[in-house]
Amino acid sequence: MTFKAVPKEETLDPSDWNELRQLAHCMVDDIFSYIEKVRDRPVWQPVPDQVREFLRSPLPLQGQPAEAVFEEFRVNILPYPLGNIHPRFWGWVIGTGTPVGMMTEMLAAALNPNLGGADHVANLVEQQVIDWCKQMLGYPAEASGLLVSGGSMANLIGLAVARSSKAGFNVRSAGVKGSKRPLTLYGSLEMHSSLDKAVELLGLGNSFLRHIPVDDDYRIDVAALRRAIKTDLSSGLQPICVIGNAGTVNTGAIDPLDKLAEIAAEFNLWYHVDGAFGALAYLSPTLRQRLEGMEKADSLAFDLHKWLHVPIEAGCVLVRDADAHRRTFAPQTEYLKHQARGAGGGDNWYSEYGIELTRGFKALKVWMAMKNYGINKLGRLVQQNVDQASYLAKLIKNSPNLELLAPVPLNIVCFRFIAPGMNEGQLNRFNEELLIRLQESGVAVPSSTTLGGRYAIRCAITNHRSRREDFEILVSEVERIGKKLIAEGWTQREKKS
Ligand SMILES: *Cc1c(COP(=O)(O)O)cnc(C)c1O
Repeated sequence: MTFKAVPKEETLDPSDWNELRQLAHCMVDDIFSYIEKVRDRPVWQPVPDQVREFLRSPLPLQGQPAEAVFEEFRVNILPYPLGNIHPRFWGWVIGTGTPVGMMTEMLAAALNPNLGGADHVANLVEQQVIDWCKQMLGYPAEASGLLVSGGSMANLIGLAVARSSKAGFNVRSAGVKGSKRPLTLYGSLEMHSSLDKAVELLGLGNSFLRHIPVDDDYRIDVAALRRAIKTDLSSGLQPICVIGNAGTVNTGAIDPLDKLAEIAAEFNLWYHVDGAFGALAYLSPTLRQRLEGMEKADSLAFDLHKWLHVPIEAGCVLVRDADAHRRTFAPQTEYLKHQARGAGGGDNWYSEYGIELTRGFKALKVWMAMKNYGINKLGRLVQQNVDQASYLAKLIKNSPNLELLAPVPLNIVCFRFIAPGMNEGQLNRFNEELLIRLQESGVAVPSSTTLGGRYAIRCAITNHRSRREDFEILVSEVERIGKKLIAEGWTQREKKS
């Protein structure tokens, strides 16, 4: 018998481990300096044309050495971030991350486990992290949970369990077509767009997600909520879920979570709380009481990559009724059957509690952060941001040129520059131009929102690197740019146009 010559086999491992190890040490050194010196760089700068061009280069059929690719990364990618690791970034709600978080991502990738199921230690780390999340937020110990990519996915999973639990028929087999009456859900006008997205994806239709008005503090109007539920009931619709906000994205408002729990119980509705960032206020002993009632939620969604500073992506959903959670997602396929023993055994099959089968080791970076910093310090950092928001609000109130546009119950501050003699429309355009120039200056990056038709410069502070002086710099820069716009005659041009 003769054998054909076997072609030389290949691998993606390095041919020279020491060479790659040395490059890895260089990468670590470079990136540590980069993070250490973040304060000295502009928060944001535009991506230059040659970099945009570089990132349209054709599909690489031939490889090049890792060193060369790292150099391309250093030149083209490293200098042009959105800026959310910078101490003066307060745009949207984006976390800062940490150097330890960065290193943990590397460790997780080295092990490269799949947390969909089976018997291995990574699943136990996720179990521990979920248990700690419950303890950290005062949520019942018997609840189930799942780490997900973020608040959007956590909201989707919470509402999916709500749908299957409260529809009154088997949604998994019948689909929403099985409903005799349209299913309705309720949240405030200030709720996050990810909840609309979730309702749309679940086939419930966003017109059946009722957006209930809010009071002057941007909290849900409980009387209006009750009326809406009653109206829908008497029109033959089927209310299934009330959504509470623990920290709205516009102003940081916290709905009366206790009242919402009562209403949910009264009408036998699922109670979901979106606490993307605000739920973490529970870590501060002085802020905790504002979240009273959050622990009564049937499902609670929150992010770990916002106010817990874990690198993006990491969020979590907790579900009070673990069976309801599993019933919503568990597949009934042969090839995913659990073994009694061996590698295919184990009790932690997270793919049965969510959408994804192959799941990454997000748990490790959360585990490391909790152990390394401790919940007490993480809570102090939450409190520090809330105190900084109050400080910024005070600076704004003390400025003759600035106006605070909403109460500051948590970590979000909305304000604008008041240019004399302008109507509301002109003020809106003026402040939009001011914000753009502020971002382009590289000094600070807030984002914007509109409150009752008024354009607001909005700072959402989930940043462990910010210091008080950073807010003083912000205020003086906003004043400088506003006055410069007026001096340039921007207001006159605007009046003519
Ligand atoms: C950020 C946010 C979300 C969405 O979370 P992602 O992590 O961005 O998916 C939902 N609700 C609120 C209140 C948020 O601030």
